[in-house]
Amino acid sequence: RGKRAFIAGVADDNGYGWAIAKSLAAAGAEILVGTWVPALNIFESSLRRGKFDESRKLPDGSLMEITKVYPLDAVYDKPEDVPEDVKTNKRYSGSSNWTVQEVVEAVKQDFGSIDILVHSLANGPEVSKPLLETSRKGYLAAVSASSGASISLTAGASERIIPGYGGGMSSAKAALESDTRVLAFEAGRKHKIRVNTISAGPLRSRAAKAIGFIDMMIDYSFANAPVMRELTAEDIGNAAAFLASPLASAITGAVVYVDNGLNAMGVGV
Ligand code: NAD
Repeated sequence: RGKRAFIAGVADDNGYGWAIAKSLAAAGAEILVGTWVPALNIFESSLRRGKFDESRKLPDGSLMEITKVYPLDAVYDKPEDVPEDVKTNKRYSGSSNWTVQEVVEAVKQDFGSIDILVHSLANGPEVSKPLLETSRKGYLAAVSASSGASISLTAGASERIIPGYGGGMSSAKAALESDTRVLAFEAGRKHKIRVNTISAGPLRSRAAKAIGFIDMMIDYSFANAPVMRELTAEDIGNAAAFLASPLASAITGAVVYVDNGLNAMGVGV
């Protein structure tokens, strides 16, 4: 059979998760996605109503099929971890089995196993605050939602100063990159699983718009990167498909830059 992929962090057709799903589907993988619980209804109804049909188109003209959409909140491991106000929140109470462990169990029951796991989610409740003014709660929330996994998405803000990328998100990405290395060792030895992260350049996704200066970052990147071209979600999708494929069988523990080379610049031009 073809490979089966689970992509966590798809809730519309604008972000990196969607583009990764498409590249994997184009390469023949079966697609399962994990969608943040509060975004589930609108995502599923948009899918059903055909709102994404244009962007579901694969290079061969067929439409990407999503075999199953799982509600997911990556911040909670098991039902006991969910606070009462979340449990009773009406955006959550309509769905069930959305903690990480429950989703793992559900996927196991439905499909037995997966071959590819993609973490394409982030949430920094205080992302627009400088780190200096970030609360412990906001910081821990950012680290909790934004690090972990097998292929993940990181950002240059983990290693260089990006003013405005606050709320502990730079810290979360630094943790993610370190975890990528350590997990590559542990999962590699134990299960022969490869673990990599893509350090992506700026994209006008829903999450990025919440940061507030994404258009400035896109312009800056275009003007200063070695390759002057628009960075697309598809660039990241294709890199993810490559990393998940046997073409990358010797690549693990890596931070792969997919940013038109911006990371290599020392100063702006
Ligand atoms: P996006 O909005 O498409 O994806 C983020 C997703 O995370 C959303 O679908 C949201 O519903 C989901 N999410 C948030 N909290 C969650 C939780 N607790 N449980 C489950 N899902 C949750 O935006 P994106 O920019 O494509 O983000 C994907 C990844 O790419 C993130 O890790 C982001 O940090 C990273 N990234 C983005 C950029 C950029 O410029 N857009 C640059 C570098 C890295």
